[in-house]
Amino acid sequence: MPVAAQSDWVGDKRPMMGTEVTVYLWSDDADKGQALVEEIFQEVARIDRLMSTYKDGSEISEINRSAANSPLVVGQELLHLIRRSLDISVLTQGAFDITYDSVGQHYDFRLNQRPDEATIQSELERTDYRLVELDDRAATIFFQREGVRINLGGIAKGYVVERGIDILRCKGVRNAIVTAGGDSRLLGDRRGRPWMVGIRDPRADGEVAISVPLEDEAISTSGDYERFFDEDGIRYHHIIRPGTGTPASGVHSATVFGPDAVLTDALSTSVFVMGVDKGLRLIATLPDYESIVIDAEGLVYYSDGLQRPDHASSQ
Ligand code: ADP
Ligand code: MG
Repeated sequence: MPVAAQSDWVGDKRPMMGTEVTVYLWSDDADKGQALVEEIFQEVARIDRLMSTYKDGSEISEINRSAANSPLVVGQELLHLIRRSLDISVLTQGAFDITYDSVGQHYDFRLNQRPDEATIQSELERTDYRLVELDDRAATIFFQREGVRINLGGIAKGYVVERGIDILRCKGVRNAIVTAGGDSRLLGDRRGRPWMVGIRDPRADGEVAISVPLEDEAISTSGDYERFFDEDGIRYHHIIRPGTGTPASGVHSATVFGPDAVLTDALSTSVFVMGVDKGLRLIATLPDYESIVIDAEGLVYYSDGLQRPDHASSQ
């Protein structure tokens, strides 16, 4: 006699893309659910092979090696994500800039290395998204200057979780969460209650500062605690201000939520770079997006569409 399929939550987590990726979903058939979980990890691995600058064989590494010589044909997927990145650079007035890597490549947060002033100055000449020419019709990319490098680290994890949820939705899943480091995309709710997504306390390892109830949305946090080293009381971390070639200061973490994980990922990095005032003003122009910023004093700021929890009852 066949055994009846069991409905249950299934999931797994794995170290991938330099962080932890988790997939968690409700399935009417736990075995089929497990197979779907596996499929999502395969998809993450595929995207990482395409977009990782740490892999010499990736398409992005090929672009960085040769797009300054002559226009190079790129696959549709990468073309789209680079196009979106360039559009977000315009939207954020250059705070988000995938050419940050021209100078960013000289930081090594594991070896506590950072570029000297002369290196920063010379690489700043190659740090400008306007040096990237994308021809959507010919599907080519061209760098106007030798030595320009692009890196999708500020947007690729958002893309991965968005893709993961797309696949699950197409397969009929109705409740799921896919997370890659600081980026999560939720499908539906947690069967009758919202997903509670925690925003880390930027200075207390493993502690949650704020929990946000969300359904069917994406949420991304950029923090100065993810990859960093401290030197003479200064924190050198992985979110680079493209105008100066140095880590952005003033903010400890920036969280953005809204419908599209690609955008929440890029915007969390952008708000971090732009700072509390400019960052929240940008979010105010985007109707479906909200933000919570924790500044360098530990003060918490909310975008206009959110009610501060301490004021909720008086409003
Ligand atoms: P995390 O990688 O911790 O999720 P983010 O989403 O903020 O955090 O992405 C940070 C990554 O974005 C960096 O590791 C780097 O690859 C890339 N990056 C850093 N500065 C910028 C910038 N100004 N514009 C675009 N990408 C950036
Ligand atoms: Mg981001």
